[in-house]
Parts: sequence; structure tokens; C-alpha cells
Amino acid sequence: MPETILNYVAGELVEPLGGGYLDKWDPATGLVSARVPDSGSEDVERAVDAATGALSGWAGRPAVERSRLLIRIADLIDERLEPLALAESRDTGKPLSLARAMDIPRASANFRFFATAILHTHTEAHQTDLAALNYTIRRPRGVAGLISPWNLPLYLLSWKIAPALATGNTAVAKPSELTPSTAAMLAEICREAGLPPGVLNIVHGLGARAGAAITAHPAVRTISFTGGTRTGADIARVAAPAFKKLTLEMGGKNPTLVFADADLEATVAAVIRSSFSNQGQICLCGSRLLVEAPIFEAFVARFVAAARRLRVGDPMDASTDQGAVISAAHRDKILGYVALAREEGGTIRCGGGVPASLPDRCRGGFFVEPTVITGLPMGCRVNQEEIFGPVVTVTPFHDEAEAVALANESRYGLAASVWTRDLQRAHRLAGEIACGTIWVNCWLVRDLRVPFGGMRDSGVGREGGDEAIRFFTEPSNVCVRL
Ligand code: NAD
Repeated sequence: MPETILNYVAGELVEPLGGGYLDKWDPATGLVSARVPDSGSEDVERAVDAATGALSGWAGRPAVERSRLLIRIADLIDERLEPLALAESRDTGKPLSLARAMDIPRASANFRFFATAILHTHTEAHQTDLAALNYTIRRPRGVAGLISPWNLPLYLLSWKIAPALATGNTAVAKPSELTPSTAAMLAEICREAGLPPGVLNIVHGLGARAGAAITAHPAVRTISFTGGTRTGADIARVAAPAFKKLTLEMGGKNPTLVFADADLEATVAAVIRSSFSNQGQICLCGSRLLVEAPIFEAFVARFVAAARRLRVGDPMDASTDQGAVISAAHRDKILGYVALAREEGGTIRCGGGVPASLPDRCRGGFFVEPTVITGLPMGCRVNQEEIFGPVVTVTPFHDEAEAVALANESRYGLAASVWTRDLQRAHRLAGEIACGTIWVNCWLVRDLRVPFGGMRDSGVGREGGDEAIRFFTEPSNVCVRL
């Protein structure tokens, strides 16, 4: 029997008011694994009421008390690492080993980071000659709407919940309807940790119903969204005329720049990871590999050989490198881009299809081989549209200027990585590549204090560290005549 997931409203686990549920499947098997509330505006209304009712009590608590509760939540996440990782792997199709090593530890780290950040933060003071003293006070903004995607479910939801709650806001959160399980487990953890009812509410359901009701609700004046660029545009259309405060973390088409002086072996190993981790379904994965011409063929040969060695299979198997993609529709979309690459004149150097052999348990699952494509111009659709799967293109460049031009030939601007032994060049390029994050000789090294977000169609605003604390608070300047 599939498990039934419930909403978390006013501290209680409750059925959706309309009584409707959606089926959710395990991407590794294709079988229905849970029923998810198909919540509507009445459920959101109830959640916003609860969040509004809890606001003054929560905002009025000393920071140290809010901090203690959030640290308790982090501790309980750590205690439940194994069941949470299992649920995350079952919902997403990602290798259990990845959920265990990355997703769940990052979720507890997010709570711990913001729980302690609020004990060390400060506000600004400005003295106006000898005439006046200004100081800034910061207040929570109220009820925050927090909407997250399916690729890193608890990791990204906690990245929003932790700073919102730490700074004294209350929240209505909506995880992706495809990956609700760890959010439901978080609700139980919050109850056990003693989080006051209404401080966090979790409403499950479809984006077009539950998500849209959150963004449209007049009492939700702060919205933090992570997901696709088209959805971000829909949310911005609703939020802008109501002057809601927004961060939008959206899609990407990230360039990976490999120069001839890079350590070839180490770079190939690192770029395999940056291309195919989580089946290429991390917004920060590099999907456009730009390689300096003299090493182009040598790089492609080694890279293709390493991609072929990746073991695609059962996410529960400890030896699996790559699990399933999120859905049948997403698999078909990815394979559609491989077909398009052929039409656009590309050469499929490896992969391009569904793995020939899978364990019996996974026969009905949604798998795609790691795929490497060469021979495509940068302006073609495969190089311009986000595929969000285990598919990369490799393109040669002849000098630094061409590398920068190719990297920036995109409507997106989320992240880039640069691989070179010439650090002067790396610093120079970092100032020229139009992305919110630029990694030099590394990838996915995360420090929770740094500003995180994208430019252009990848995002508006930044998350992380002080940026998040500023986002979730409203400043007032107090000017005192001296
Ligand atoms: P999505 O935009 O389809 O959905 C994201 C969330 O928004 C889900 O919870 C969904 O239910 C909700 N939603 C959908 N329509 C809505 C609406 N009209 N109003 C309010 N909420 C709505 O994205 P997805 O397919 O879940 O995730 C994949 C996308 O997320 C990719 O484009 C990826 O690049 C992006 N992403 C970006 C980052 C980042 O930090 N920039 C991180 C992870 C994923």
C-alpha cells in the first residue's frame, strides 16, 4: 500500500480539505509509492491563517530561543539520516549514497548555520558628521511563502525554511509534488522538536493550485522560489503588482571551461562529477563543456571513456553512480534533446539512450545513459535550452576571448567552472563570465555564507548568509539628531 502523506498546518498533520490526493511514483521502479495531498486555495488559506496567528509569538521570542529550537531540528535530522536518505532516494531516484552524503547532511547544516548566524549577526550604524546618528533596525517580514523543486528536495526546502524562521518569520512551504516525503518527515521532526504550532506549515500539492495560491495570497508578502525559469516568470507576474519581495532561483545552462594547461586527469574526473552528479539534475551542473583546442580530442576521449564507466542502475545499490531521472516525461524530454542534437548536426560520442541492462526491480524505472555530444554550434537549441539531465555538449575554443564569448552566449547565468593552472587567467575570467557563482579548479564547494544565485534568466536576488538574513527582514533606518 502506498503511504499517505499529510499536510502540516498549525502543528497538526491534516488531510487536504478537498479530500483529493495525487499519486507519486518511485522513479527507480515506476511504481506508485505514495499519495500526496492535492491541496487547493482553502488549504493554503488555513496554513496562512496559522502562520499569521503564530507570527507575533515567534518573532517576539529571543533569538537564542529560536536558535535552540532550530538546532534541535538539525540534531533530529542528523539522528534520522538513514530513513531520510532512503525517502529522498525513493522520491527522486538518486543514489542512496548521494542522499546520505549530500542531501540530508546539507539539510541539517542549513538549519544549524542559520540558527547560529542569528546569534552573530549585526545591523548597521551611520554617523552623519556631528549632526546625527543613524542606525538600522531589522524586523521579520511576516508570513513567507517558500516553494522548492524536486531535484534536491530537503536540501533546498531547508535552505529557505531555516533563514525564514531564524529571522522570526513564519512560513507556508510547498515542496515539489514529485518529492514530498522528506518534507513530511520534517513536519514530524518539527513537532517533536517543539516548534510552536503555525510557525512552519507545509502544504503539498500541484504548483498550479497550491503553489499559485501561496504566491497569490495577500498575506504572503515574501516569496522565495527555486525551480524552473518559466515558473519563476509566472510567480513574478503575480507578485510584482502586489509589490511582494521575491527571490527567484531558476534554471541554468552552465559553462565548464577547460584550458590546455589544466591537469587533464584530475580535471576529467572532476568534470565527470560536475556533469553527471544526481543524473545531471543539479542546477549547478555544467552542461556546456568548453575545451581549449589543443587538448580537445584528448579531453573528449578520456571524458567519454570515464562517462562510459559510470554505473547506471538501482539507486539502492552501493556501487551505483547514477540512478533514475525524476519521471517518464522528464526521461522523454531528455531523450528528445538527444534526437534534436542529431538533427542539429551533433555527434553522440556516448550514451544517448536508455541503459540496455537494468536490474529486474528497475525495469519500469526512468533511466538515461550519461551522454556526451560534440559538433554543435553554440547557438543551437541543445546548447541554449536547459535539458537538466545527464547530457553534456563539448565545444572547442581557441583563445581566452572566445572561451568567454562562448560561456556568455546564453540567456542564463547561474554558475561556471574554470579549470586552469594559470591563476591570473582564472581571476581575469572570473570578472568576465556573467554567472552568479564561478568555481576555479573545483565544483560544488559550498560555503553557506557566500551569496548564492543567478544572473539574467537564472535568477533574481541572492540566498545564503547575510543575503538571506537581509531578504527575510525589513530594515528601518532610525535617525537621531545629535
Ligand atoms: P518547477 O518550476 O516546475 O517547480 C518548482 C516548484 O514550483 C514546485 O514546487 C512546483 O509545484 C511549484 N510551481 C509550479 N508552478 C507554480 C506556480 N504557477 N506557482 C507557484 N508554484 C508553482 O521546477 P522543477 O521541475 O520542480 O525543478 C527543476 C528546475 O529547477 C530546473 O529548471 C532547475 O534548474 C531549477 N533549479 C534551480 C536551482 C537554483 O538554485 N537556481 C536549484 C534547483 C533547481
